[in-house]
Amino acid sequence: MRSLVLALVLTTTTLQASQPPAAPDWTTLDAETLAHFQAIVRMDTTDPPGGEKPVADYLVGVLRKEGIEVQTFELEPGRTNVVARLKGTGAKKPLLLMAHTDTVNVDAKKWSYPPFSAERNSGYIYGRGTIDDKDNVVASLMTMVMLKRRNVPLTRDVIFLAEAGEEGTTRVGINFMVERHYGAIDAEYCLAEGGSVTRTGGQVKFASVQTLEKIPRALSVTARGPAGHGSVPLENNAVARLGEAVGAIATWTPPIRLNETTASYFKRLAGISSPEEAARYRDILSPDPNVSGPADRYFRKNEPRHWSTLRTSLSPTIIQGGYRVNVIPSEATATIDVRTTPDEDPAKFLELVRQVVNDENVTVEWAARDVRPGTGNANLSSDAFRAIEANLTRHYQAVTLPTMSTGATDMAYLRAKGMQCYGVGPATDTEDGPLGFGAHSDQERILESELYRFVHFLWDTVNDIAAR
Ligand SMILES: [Zn+2]
Repeated sequence: MRSLVLALVLTTTTLQASQPPAAPDWTTLDAETLAHFQAIVRMDTTDPPGGEKPVADYLVGVLRKEGIEVQTFELEPGRTNVVARLKGTGAKKPLLLMAHTDTVNVDAKKWSYPPFSAERNSGYIYGRGTIDDKDNVVASLMTMVMLKRRNVPLTRDVIFLAEAGEEGTTRVGINFMVERHYGAIDAEYCLAEGGSVTRTGGQVKFASVQTLEKIPRALSVTARGPAGHGSVPLENNAVARLGEAVGAIATWTPPIRLNETTASYFKRLAGISSPEEAARYRDILSPDPNVSGPADRYFRKNEPRHWSTLRTSLSPTIIQGGYRVNVIPSEATATIDVRTTPDEDPAKFLELVRQVVNDENVTVEWAARDVRPGTGNANLSSDAFRAIEANLTRHYQAVTLPTMSTGATDMAYLRAKGMQCYGVGPATDTEDGPLGFGAHSDQERILESELYRFVHFLWDTVNDIAAR
C-alpha cells in the first residue's frame, strides 16, 4: 500500500513538473483584486493620525487564509506593520515587496464621491489611497497569494511589507522596521512605490522607475542688525538684509551634478521626444556650459522638475522676523528647503551658499530636519532592473526611464542598508493631475483597467526575479 501511494505521489509530481503551469485566470483574479482593493480603500487610514490596524488585520486575514507565514510589528498601538514571507531555496537573497497602508488627509467637501467609498464610475475607482499607495498594497498582496496558491518554486524568499506611517511619521513605520526588525525584511532587492507609467491622451508615453532620490535638508539663514525705531531707517536693517540674502539664494543656479540615473534618464528621454525637446535633453548632458546653458535656462523657466533633477536645489519656504510695525527687529530668519543630490558634500555646499549670500551680517547654517539617509544609485544593470524593464516593455510597450525623485521616499532607509530598491507604479493620465485627481490632490482615482494591468506587470516581474 505504502509503495502504491509513493508511486502515485511520484507520478503526480513528475506530471506536475513536466507540464508548464497554466496561465493565470485573470478574469477571476481581477475580480479578487477589485474586492481586496475596495475593501482596503474603504478603511480610513489617513495620517495623521494613521491607524493602519484595520487594513493590517485585513491583510493578515487574507494571507493566513492562504497559509502564508505572517507577522505584525507595532511601535505604537494601532500603527501596525505587516510582514509576510514565502520561502525560496535560499540560492539568492530575498526580494521585498513594500507598500504603505496609510494615506494623506482628505477634505471631504471636495470629493464628488465620498473619499472612502471606493466608488466605481466610468472606468475609474475613486478614493483616497487609490494611487498612493493602496494600489501597491493590493498588487503586492495578490502577487503573494498567487505565488502561494500556484506553489511557485522560488530561488529566493519573497517578503511582503505593508508599512505604517509613510505619510506622517516614518518613526512607526520604515524607521522602526529598519532599526528594530531589519532581519524580518532584509533583502537584495525591493520593489515599492515611486515609479509610474505616463499616459497622455490615453496613450502610454513612457515608464518611470525610481532608482535614486535626493536627500532633504534645511538651511537656516539669519540676518542680524541693530534694533531701532521704524521711523529712522537703518542701513543694517536685519529684515532688509535677510531679503537680499534670500533673493540671492533663490536666483542662484547651483552647478549641474549628473549621475548614472539622471544621465541615463535624459539620454533615454531624448530618444522618445520631439526633435526640439530631444535637442535640449542631449544638450544638458554636455560638459560644455555653452551647450548645456541654454537648455538649463529653458528648464528653469519651463521644466522646473528637470531643473531640480540636475542639481542640489534650494527653495525659500519660511520667513520669520519682526513683531510690530514701528520696531526694526534685531534679527530675522529664513528657512530654505534644500534637496541635495546624493553625491553632494554638505560642508562644501554650505560654503558655496555662504559665498552666494556674501554678507557678514548674515549667517547660514544647516538646520535640523528629519534627514533621510543618503543613498546610492540602484543598479541599472541588475537582474531586477532588467526584469522590470522587460516587463514594462511587455505590458506597456513603453521605454523605461530611470528617475531620481526630487522628493524622498521610504526606500531611502533601505538603500542606506545596501538594498537595491526600484520604485514602480501603475499608469496614470497626465491630464488627471491638473484636474485635481493626482496623489495628495483634492481627489484621487485610478483607472480600473490600469490597476489590473499593474497587478499583471508585478506578477510577471516578481516571477522573473524570484521564480526558479
Ligand atoms: Zn505614497
